[in-house]
Amino acid sequence: VKSIAVLTSGGDSQGMNAAVRAVVRSALYNGLEVYGVQRGYQGLLNDDLRQMDLRSVGDILQRGGTVLQTARCKEFLTSEGQQRGAEVLRSRGIDGLVVIGGDGSYQGANKLSKLGIKTMGLPGTIDNDIPFTDATIGFDTAVSIVVDAINKIRDTMSSHERASVVEVMGRHCGDIALHAGLASGAETIIVPEVPYDIKEVSERMKANFEKGKRHSIIVIAEGAAKGEDVTREITNETGLDARVTVLGHIQRGGTPTAIDRILASRLGDFAVQQLMAGESGKGCGVINSKLVATDIETIVNTKKPFNMELYELALRLSQ
Ligand code: ATP
Repeated sequence: VKSIAVLTSGGDSQGMNAAVRAVVRSALYNGLEVYGVQRGYQGLLNDDLRQMDLRSVGDILQRGGTVLQTARCKEFLTSEGQQRGAEVLRSRGIDGLVVIGGDGSYQGANKLSKLGIKTMGLPGTIDNDIPFTDATIGFDTAVSIVVDAINKIRDTMSSHERASVVEVMGRHCGDIALHAGLASGAETIIVPEVPYDIKEVSERMKANFEKGKRHSIIVIAEGAAKGEDVTREITNETGLDARVTVLGHIQRGGTPTAIDRILASRLGDFAVQQLMAGESGKGCGVINSKLVATDIETIVNTKKPFNMELYELALRLSQ
């Protein structure tokens, strides 16, 4: 591999910039040429690439969002689109590509790999829904934002003896709800992976209020239920005053935590190493502090296991 490109795709996440910086600086350190593709696969099809130097990625390590911008691209779902993407790269003499994104972006990278472009995926999504890595880039920051928001909600709710329902991101994966819930003492965590019974939730809340609990926090992953609906059901079942907060896009913004910056830096550098070693069609991750590369095929066909131990711990500790 002599020349590589990097793109960000799908939903953005904090730390994507740190990953882009790591890919660019690591490539240059190793004597490779490196290009940035604007707006994901759409930009690739539009031949919207620019050569990067050391200064192209200056002052972005600490910024949220992605300087390369991101997009969803329907055309790239077709085999003609994928062929054209490979052609654009080949015409510029680029033989390697690092794709930073979620599950769909990984599948795109795998298609390009089959067309002879060496590709590496980096898990850039706040949802933590990619298996074969302990965490995705942006997850730690998103959890910190949710915990910080719940701290503030908790102050006002306990003054009024109210129940707070907080809806967080996570369409198929409840990890943000789980981790933020445990870290902020949530009494109930509702996630897509575990069925819930509103009557049982309400009974526990009533029992806890009788034990002297002054506030009750219910964290819901958006893919499991709507915060608004659960709030209404809880008010009906318990008679308690419940209020809902939908956190929305603030979870995807702001400066990445040190943990996300370090993860992104390690993974960006690792992806370049893997490409130089001739690897392709792999997704990079960190498992038990060790860098690992796993076939994208395996990654996209595996569901991320849910951590029931943490879930049960959160329930035990929040009585
Ligand atoms: P997030 O999880 O944050 O939404 P994502 O990477 O899963 O991120 P998608 O919208 O699913 O987001 O995918 C991003 C882009 O990747 C798509 O717009 C499309 O261009 C490309 N892509 C998705 N799935 C495939 C596929 N099966 N084959 C080829 N390209 C794909």
